[in-house]
Amino acid sequence: LASRVGPLGTTVFSEFSALALKHGAVNLGQGFPDFDGPDAVKEAAHQAILSGINQYAPSVGLKVLREAIAEHGARFHGQEGIDPDTMVTVTSGATEAIFCVLLGLVDPGDEVVAFEPFYDSYDANIAFVGARPRYVPLRPPDATHATWWFDRDEVRAAFGPRTRLLILNTPHNPTGKVFTREELAFLAELCAEHDVKVLSDEVYEHIVFAPARHVRAATVPGLAERTVTVSSGGKSFSFTGWKVGWIIAPPALRDAVQRAHQFVTFATASPLQAAMAVALRLPDTYFEQLRAQYLARRERLLAGLAQAGLKAHVPEGSYFILADISGQGLGDDVAFCRHLVTRVGVAAIPPSVFYAPEHRHLGQGMARFAFCKSDAILDDAARRLKDGL
Ligand code: PMP
Ligand code: GLN
Repeated sequence: LASRVGPLGTTVFSEFSALALKHGAVNLGQGFPDFDGPDAVKEAAHQAILSGINQYAPSVGLKVLREAIAEHGARFHGQEGIDPDTMVTVTSGATEAIFCVLLGLVDPGDEVVAFEPFYDSYDANIAFVGARPRYVPLRPPDATHATWWFDRDEVRAAFGPRTRLLILNTPHNPTGKVFTREELAFLAELCAEHDVKVLSDEVYEHIVFAPARHVRAATVPGLAERTVTVSSGGKSFSFTGWKVGWIIAPPALRDAVQRAHQFVTFATASPLQAAMAVALRLPDTYFEQLRAQYLARRERLLAGLAQAGLKAHVPEGSYFILADISGQGLGDDVAFCRHLVTRVGVAAIPPSVFYAPEHRHLGQGMARFAFCKSDAILDDAARRLKDGL
């Protein structure tokens, strides 16, 4: 076993999906929809295969998809001037994109600032490139903050001479926080001061609930020239298994990421790229419906959790809810989630795994529930929680 993988166990998502299967539990753990995306997009993939789009795509991605990514950025996020030829690389999911950004921009010994709780691949990927993470905890809503928030002094203190990259994730998994333009402007200033690049993971860009609005970090003054935007079609089109992702960045940064990408996967599945171009060009009504459906599912799960006596933070975006489990008398989040999946028949994710070991306690009073599930499943989960807790 190489030392870089020695400390890594099985990801919490695989672990709890396996437990859910074994115990016949309703799986609100790993974040994947139990429904498919639009038929028109499936049809496009089918047609792409039948019409012979079956050999390697160019390493940067099919031109039709890079053009669709550029158009989509302008249409929904006001990100004008994306040159599909010099500013876009298609990757195998956001997961590969994140790894290639770290490979392309961060040296061993550099420091990477990120917020906790973090999406778990950040921590592993920072370690893979021999860099050191500097984590700043997001704080839960309280009497003076209506949403998850961060202490500006704590962020300032995390930046230093070795800081090379800031990782942002908005809308945020697992808190559901949507970073405001003002918060991003503060971070932009700090990054300019320290000449730090930004990886902005925006895979939940279309799952945002009013009054929150998604702000593409790269549209904030001072961030355009230093930001690599990462996204994918998994969440926006309910095809998480397709693993079609991409990065958008100024040419010099795109080049750095592309140099890594060409030797990590070289290229991503061609027919799925062709279909993803169709998806990104779906009419506005598709995206409005997606949001409306997720809002309804959010309300349904919130109601279910409330009936089971679980207080929850209302997410502004993403398809996750963090519920307060501290009063349940079942131990920490890991013990609670194990009890839940084996005895109550519901799988959830213990969020302490999204914190560095020294901050684990911050996640131990919560459990993460995914609401990217059909009504019948959400109702079944609610019933089991009410009866079993
Ligand atoms: N970033 C975040 C915040 C995620 O939640 C996920 C997966 N759910 C990813 C990246 C990975 O996306 P993909 O499936 O496109 O690799
Ligand atoms: N991003 C998904 C989640 O947070 C899981 C992705 C994975 O299994 N790696 O649930």
